[in-house]
Amino acid sequence: MSTPSVIESVLVENRVFEPSEAVMKGACISGMDAYSALCAEAATDFGGYWARLARENVVWSKPFTKTLDESNAPFYKWFEDGELNASANCLDKHMGTPNENKVAVIFEADGGEVTKTTYKELLAKVSQFANALKARGIQKGDRVLIYMPMTLEGVIAMQACARIGAIHSVVFGGFSAKAVQERIIDAGAVAVITSNFQMRGGKELPLKAIVDDGLGLGSCESIKTVMVFERTSTACNMVEGRDVTFTEALAGQSTECAPVMVGAEHPLFILFTSGSTGKPKGVQHATGGFVLWAKLTMDWTFDLRPDDVFWCTADIGWITGHAYVAYGPLAAGATQIIFEGVPTYPNAGRFWQMIERHKCSIFYTAPTAIRSLIKSAEADSKVHPDASDLTSLRILGSVGEPINPEAWMWYYKNVGHEKCPIVDTFWQTETGGHVITPLPGATPLVPGSCTLPLPGIMAAIVDEAGHDVPNGSGGMLVIKRPWPSMIRTIWGDPERFKASYFPAEMGGTYYLAGDGAVRSIDRGYFRITGRIDDVLNVSGHRMGTMEIESALVAKTDLVAEAAVVGRPDDLTGEAICAFVVLKRGVPTGDEAKAIAKQLRDWVAKEIGPIAKPKDIRFGENLPKTRSGKIMRRLLRSLAKGETITQDTSTLENPAILSQLGQAY
Ligand code: ATP
Ligand code: MG
Repeated sequence: MSTPSVIESVLVENRVFEPSEAVMKGACISGMDAYSALCAEAATDFGGYWARLARENVVWSKPFTKTLDESNAPFYKWFEDGELNASANCLDKHMGTPNENKVAVIFEADGGEVTKTTYKELLAKVSQFANALKARGIQKGDRVLIYMPMTLEGVIAMQACARIGAIHSVVFGGFSAKAVQERIIDAGAVAVITSNFQMRGGKELPLKAIVDDGLGLGSCESIKTVMVFERTSTACNMVEGRDVTFTEALAGQSTECAPVMVGAEHPLFILFTSGSTGKPKGVQHATGGFVLWAKLTMDWTFDLRPDDVFWCTADIGWITGHAYVAYGPLAAGATQIIFEGVPTYPNAGRFWQMIERHKCSIFYTAPTAIRSLIKSAEADSKVHPDASDLTSLRILGSVGEPINPEAWMWYYKNVGHEKCPIVDTFWQTETGGHVITPLPGATPLVPGSCTLPLPGIMAAIVDEAGHDVPNGSGGMLVIKRPWPSMIRTIWGDPERFKASYFPAEMGGTYYLAGDGAVRSIDRGYFRITGRIDDVLNVSGHRMGTMEIESALVAKTDLVAEAAVVGRPDDLTGEAICAFVVLKRGVPTGDEAKAIAKQLRDWVAKEIGPIAKPKDIRFGENLPKTRSGKIMRRLLRSLAKGETITQDTSTLENPAILSQLGQAY
């Protein structure tokens, strides 16, 4: 692959925000020298570096003697002869320390009720639940499907599985019966942990009924137990002998349960990717490496301090909810907020009001949430962040998609009041934790850039043959060396694992992220330009879809959200098609034509005439995965005028597709 330079555009950012003295003082990694020293340690003694971190940050019942086994690459093994328990690393280790009676979880329900649980109380609850699992015959190595609302009980279920060495597979509570069935079969699960209903936005939505439907679709004979949390008082169907309520299951169970120690490579969980680029992949993670990185990135990326109140808004159905709700904050001894509901109920100021209410100091959310809250805040001052006291905030974070520079600036000014660093954390279900991210007390920030790899993560940008490309040239993001929290395999499909992530053309050992990226010429900062499939080639010019999207979103008076894809074009090779959500409603006819022209002129001015979208389509939203990511593969089909026949099992809003039919 030749590597012509990516067209310079609005994303060539000149704004740089250095960490303030106040932020640097006492930071876990303070200043770029401290960061560089860690990178140098990893570069000179890779094995020694990771061994040191694993000894310092994980409680081992049996210490490991081998750090990394590469003999069967890419099936890497980390800390293989060590033994530990993930739940003991999150709970038991705090007993007898000042954290014992610290609040571990502040839970705010959809309707606003707040409950607080200390580490000691949480350990008792998890232990009791673990005993209930054992009483149903569930053992080490068994797979347990968790299909729960965003509640404390969901986290308890995950921790209880880990405590007995059972492998959880969490399925987001918005997925269909079919998705539940497929994931049960894929994992060969023996039990389902679910809830009668879930509360979202004031509505009571069924969960158990969907599990029943999923089981009814067939081939789920492996399921012997369904445990049902009584989230609401409404009755649900219960199958005699198979189904048991939490109350029944927990009755008489002791609140003490010795954790089952497992080998470091024992699978902690299976989790499916979001399905943005294709059929979701069942990613398998290992206990030791995952726990290490979840704990350590809490300290490094969020600069966690003892009195912080941490809030990650991700659902436990996603990797972010695994690493930064269910495990990381607990392993790091944080007080965290868990929120059941949605950001727009009872109004779109809910996040800001909750930050004020619980004195949240570290707030971590997704660009999709930020973009939608910008739209609401600009329409109604009552739900603007200014209507809440956000002075408790210290650090902001973003994850899930590239954050456009304009959204970044809004977040920085309106939520962080220009004093909170934003950590734009790049990572994936497969990476198990952050891999490229700023460090609040060290990294100068550039809007829209995830900046630099964490020490020990050997990220690079290469061409198709695996050769490094120079800064300023676009290419494929890879990680050249293994790291402890990496994916171990695709559950039950080692061939797909190898083929998807370790291309033979690159030598078979580079981890291919699937994202396109470019490093800035001056600082070597990474910027994600879109999925590899999303790099456009218009008349021989290579452009990331992300830059055109960011240019569109930079038209702040008009555009709320935008997605760009290519379609084949006889003349130019590829034509640019933009899907745009306006801040006002969906325009039609002459108005739509006039706005489309205005947007084309704008992009021409911001990037260059070559980047002008040929087609512009308007909708009140974009097709998104349940985790809030734009599903560009569907947009590509729409742009080509095809009917959609692909996997849409993780699509949130199918109705939106029909709106996007008209091109201007
Ligand atoms: P699938 O793998 O099934 O297509 P997915 O890649 O969306 O779905 P996830 O593992 O949930 O599934 O998401 C990881 C992807 O999210 C990354 O590969 C990247 O494209 C995007 N991403 C996450 N964080 C960032 C970020 N800070 N900046 C840019 N992109 C990000
Ligand atoms: Mg992916």
